[in-house]
Amino acid sequence: MYCKNCGAEIDDEAVLCPKCGIMTGKLPAEERAPAAAPAPLNIIALIGFIFSFIQPIPGLICSIIGKKEVAKTGERGEAFAKAGLIISIVELSAAVLSIVGAILFYVIMMVFALIGASSGTF
Ligand SMILES: [Zn+2]
Repeated sequence: MYCKNCGAEIDDEAVLCPKCGIMTGKLPAEERAPAAAPAPLNIIALIGFIFSFIQPIPGLICSIIGKKEVAKTGERGEAFAKAGLIISIVELSAAVLSIVGAILFYVIMMVFALIGASSGTF
């Protein structure tokens, strides 16, 4: 661009004219509105993702909260929240299945023990 005062060619980003020292009317970079900065990463979604590997219940809770926050604020981390949600659910269902399996095993053993005991008395 050219200086309004002296007409010298100056840098487009210059705040002051280097020739005459007059203000160009441009604001310094830090005073201008920030140029579309990348959205911050949602920490809760990230925590949910990490916890889903070690603690599926808090992992699931954080992932649900994180997913809602991401949808509300437009922050990044939806992929983390989704992955955390899936991993937590898989781990929880594996845990539930193993508990149900153990209970079934004991019930069957009890039934066999009762049948064995009742048939022994006769
Ligand atoms: Zn000038």
